[in-house]
Amino acid sequence: AKHEQRGSVRFYTPELTKQAQERLQMRNDLRRALKNKEFIPYYQPKFDLQTREVLGAEALVRWNHPEKGLVPPFDFIPVLEEMGLVEEVDMMMLDMVCGQLEKWQQLTDTGGKIAVNFSGLQFKYEKLLDKVVDIIESHKLTPKAIQIEVTEGVLLEHHDQLPLIFRDFKALGFSIALDDFGTGYSSLGYLSKYPIDTLKIDRSFVNNINKNEADDILIKTIVSMAQNLKMDVVAEGVETKPQADWLASIGVRIVQGYLFGRPMSATNFEAAFLQDDGI
Ligand code: C2E
Ligand code: CA
Ligand code: CA
Ligand code: CA
Repeated sequence: AKHEQRGSVRFYTPELTKQAQERLQMRNDLRRALKNKEFIPYYQPKFDLQTREVLGAEALVRWNHPEKGLVPPFDFIPVLEEMGLVEEVDMMMLDMVCGQLEKWQQLTDTGGKIAVNFSGLQFKYEKLLDKVVDIIESHKLTPKAIQIEVTEGVLLEHHDQLPLIFRDFKALGFSIALDDFGTGYSSLGYLSKYPIDTLKIDRSFVNNINKNEADDILIKTIVSMAQNLKMDVVAEGVETKPQADWLASIGVRIVQGYLFGRPMSATNFEAAFLQDDGI
């Protein structure tokens, strides 16, 4: 056994090998996680600054790892994308969210929606719409209950079919939000080609409110552009009262952020926001 070890690459490039091993381990872990359905949605409230009510939630995936506990998405979504498995997780999430919505029917009764995040890679998948509709119908819901969040970057991936795919989703009653807006350099012309309902202002801009004048101007520009295009605006990553007040003063109504609620388990979300017709 000693002789076999001698030829190992570990001897020459210990760093790389450790990384490569971790990568391999992660991939194996993720395959098991998919099989065992170790992914769960956390829910973060969306809050209306005018009515002071919770309007719905965004579902954010967590990997409930048997040893590591809850693993955040940035640690594994890119690996799943590399492995070509992110669609499976996104569909699994949608299914769990719909299951939850069946229970939280009051949410949809009052027009509240749950937003789910779809990887841009999904839109290469031809059967996406059928699959999504199947999942929703299996829970006796309609597409009105769901908003699909995709990052702004997806628009730049020169996808001739994308406006058409979005149109199909819209025609069935889904709404579409552009996530991380402001980070991806999309032009006004670009935006008007797509049937988008909501722009979500990226957290990095919200974080700089009253700190960086250029970012304040950028937020104001996004808000007036959205108004002209008849789109809603959501500001994400709102952590302080001054940020919320400033956003309200320039006409932003819907906000998300730690100030109003962190992403939380379904049980905690229900207890905090759905008690006495809380929505
Ligand atoms: P995102 O869609 O932009 O989600 C917002 C992220 O900001 C979430 O991180 C949320 O926990 C965090 N956040 C919310 N409010 C605040 C705040 O006030 N301050 C700060 N500092 N952070 C805040 P999270 O849950 O770690 O998700 C990270 C990203 O992973 C998401 O960014 C999204 O791009 C991706 N993701 C999450 N769930 C899914 C999923 O089911 N499918 C796919 N494809 N991607 C997902
Ligand atoms: Ca999102
Ligand atoms: Ca975002
Ligand atoms: Ca209510």
